[in-house]
Amino acid sequence: MPQRVALYDLTYDQLAQLLGDWGEPRFRADQVWRWLYQSLVEDFEEMSNLPRALRERLSSETDLSLLTVLGEQASPGGQTRKVLFGLRDGNTIESVLMQYADRRTVCVSTQVGCGMGCVFCATGQGGLVRNLSAGEIVAQVIHFARVSRSIEMEHAAGPGTKTPSHGQPIGNIVLMGMGEPLANYAATWQAIETLTDGRGYNLGARRITLSTVGLVPVIRRLAEERLPINLAVSLHAPDDELRNQLVPVNRRYPLADLMAAVREYVNKTGRRVTFEYALIEGVNDTLQSAQALAELLDGLLCHVNLIPLNPTPGSRLRPSQRERVNAFRDQLLEAGIAATVRMRRGIGIAAGCGQLRQRQAGIAQS
Ligand code: SAH
Ligand code: SF4
Repeated sequence: MPQRVALYDLTYDQLAQLLGDWGEPRFRADQVWRWLYQSLVEDFEEMSNLPRALRERLSSETDLSLLTVLGEQASPGGQTRKVLFGLRDGNTIESVLMQYADRRTVCVSTQVGCGMGCVFCATGQGGLVRNLSAGEIVAQVIHFARVSRSIEMEHAAGPGTKTPSHGQPIGNIVLMGMGEPLANYAATWQAIETLTDGRGYNLGARRITLSTVGLVPVIRRLAEERLPINLAVSLHAPDDELRNQLVPVNRRYPLADLMAAVREYVNKTGRRVTFEYALIEGVNDTLQSAQALAELLDGLLCHVNLIPLNPTPGSRLRPSQRERVNAFRDQLLEAGIAATVRMRRGIGIAAGCGQLRQRQAGIAQS
């Protein structure tokens, strides 16, 4: 049996085309789009302003559920929740919800696995299985938006205060889950366009951050896009010799090329770039490394996020000690480079992205 059309996989125009082919009037696309991205319905029956026959056709020929929750872990305070999702073909991915006082951020995956092979990364160890579709990326956000909305409604459920807040339940998205978003550009960009669409979810592009290992030609392409999303680059080393070892794709796109593309990106967009740098004990955490990093980034509109490595099972690499981390940061600050130390919020609940899935695979094998 052919798989049903997943509505989250459709652009607005494709949805309008589908409904037009079914002989529906033009305004139906708007109605359905709003049910999907404003009301966040889980069931076609809730689409109450559509004729019954259309609801039935949608329900028999299309699909609203691309993801099934297979597992969930919450940090002790409940601020971070990591979910393992099953996809329609049986593959699995992870996403994380991070709740701060005034906003909720979702960390989404863009691929099943990753083909980039960074040596410190749990996701990278299993290789690439496949790209996610745009709908599978969007559906991760929609899942958490529904969860957040029901939490808000519970909080507002006191007498006479039944109205949920009208802002988006998820206010920030980071493309920092499993996979390399720029190696799955078409689906990733479609998902960004869908979530920022003013007729639906209407998220500001400035609230989206895309993290890349440094695929130079695609960074150049990103600089041409009209939506001003934020760019983060996973650097992890200040010179080619070390970066070749940690981030194998550096052999294809060495630092000089990467930095030229990033500088071009900053000049073209006027936007500050973030560099991620996982501090690994005895590997990339010396003061010489900090100095070399400061020289590499000199004069660039940027910010460095220092993250003590999240140890992954089966790897001998360890996180730098706290004093080392602080000394590294101070060296950058003295050189005039904005830098902060970021603890991974997910660390207490199953460490970094990719590790819940790895653990489940381990359980399945044993
Ligand atoms: N593929 C993209 C986005 C996903 S990874 C990228 O690499 O940028 C999100 C971030 O987590 C990246 O900066 C990545 O380098 C970092 N990361 C992966 N494994 C890690 C680990 N074990 N400890 C600390 N950071 C890690
Ligand atoms: Fe892929 Fe990013 Fe992990 Fe590298 S760090 S293997 S690019 S997910």
